[in-house]
Amino acid sequence: MKPHSLRTIRDLCNVHDFTLAKSLGQNFLTDIHIIEKIADALLITEGELVYEIGPGMGALTMALADAGANLKAIEVDRRLIPILEQIFYDYDNVEIIESDVLKFQFPDEDYKLIGNLPYYITTPIIMDALERPRPPKSMVFMMQKEVADRILSPPGSKVYGALSVMVQYRCDVDHVTDVSPDVFFPKPKVSSSVLRFNPRPESEVITKHRALFSKVVHAAFAQRRKTVANSLKTLQMSDGTLSSEQIRTALHAAGIDPIRRAETMSVEEFSALTDAFFEIS
Ligand code: SAM
Repeated sequence: MKPHSLRTIRDLCNVHDFTLAKSLGQNFLTDIHIIEKIADALLITEGELVYEIGPGMGALTMALADAGANLKAIEVDRRLIPILEQIFYDYDNVEIIESDVLKFQFPDEDYKLIGNLPYYITTPIIMDALERPRPPKSMVFMMQKEVADRILSPPGSKVYGALSVMVQYRCDVDHVTDVSPDVFFPKPKVSSSVLRFNPRPESEVITKHRALFSKVVHAAFAQRRKTVANSLKTLQMSDGTLSSEQIRTALHAAGIDPIRRAETMSVEEFSALTDAFFEIS
């Protein structure tokens, strides 16, 4: 069976009386070259533990299984479970798991993560993976191109924001490929991109105060048009908000001019600022 073929998808829909759920981001891939490119980007070794988010009708799942992964595919739509179980009946290396990925307990062991993501929860999926005590060794995700552009953008760019900083702080990110809407069934309205995320070892992450870093970044970007000194007035420390004097002291210690805007600050500067806030807290 070729789960990426339009004909197979239509047949499976008919036989199982299945209608695609737009609300779950069900746009299935139909181009084997793109599917193989995505699977290859994860650099799977034989028997390696891989989790796939949202297998749908199994197009990417089959490429990953054929590449030798010990594959666990997490699908929230219970109507797809019997279809997937039927497709992968003969595969010893594929386990289908019915779960919402945002509620799933990932194991405390090495694994890789991949998915043609449901676009309505792209950011929570990425942030959740990065904030785990043990992040995946490597991740390959397809997402809306506009979100990929934000993740990759440097300081000073119009689309540089909290997501860019939070991801670049934890990972090296490579652009794998752009994907046209034409290779999906049904066609989405937007273009997509595939990115590979390589989380850095804990020892190479700049500030160690991860929770505080996240608060500082989100407060700094909450009002993009304000100066960083003003935006940080909403920063909630464990004992409440900070005085203007405390904010100026921390910015000074981190070598950051208080009249700058968050969108001009590098990941290193956010890290230095986090450390300065930690010192005064
Ligand atoms: N991997 C398939 C492909 O490339 O053809 C399907 C990708 S489709 C864009 C996204 C898939 O994620 C759908 O099968 C959808 O049901 C599933 N999904 C949506 N929300 C989910 C969630 N919270 N947890 C797990 N899977 C989810």
